[in-house]
Amino acid sequence: MHELSIAMSLLEIIERTARANGMSRVTKVLVKAGELTSVEPESLSFCFNEIKKESIAASAELLVEVVPLQGCCPVCGSDFDIKDSKLFCSMCGNRDIRIIAGEELCLFQVEGES
Ligand SMILES: [Zn+2]
Repeated sequence: MHELSIAMSLLEIIERTARANGMSRVTKVLVKAGELTSVEPESLSFCFNEIKKESIAASAELLVEVVPLQGCCPVCGSDFDIKDSKLFCSMCGNRDIRIIAGEELCLFQVEGES
């Protein structure tokens, strides 16, 4: 299961981050999941809640924010949302666009108490 392995690596990073910041318990975790990662927020929270029990994040609340897919066009310089996997510029029709958001999966914030 995709989400379980993601939850496990998240927990590892959370524990490392918490220790590095002198936290004794983690209260809140914010994760940003790009649309392209096809991570399901509910399923990720479910997995996280299952594995967090014995960890420093046992009482932490996991928030998953889905980041929509966004592109930018090197020809006309516009930024736009990419809908239905249409990989071309909505302003000038250029097909050589760059993806600037929506591919990432990152641990955005860890809150806790020392
Ligand atoms: Zn363009």
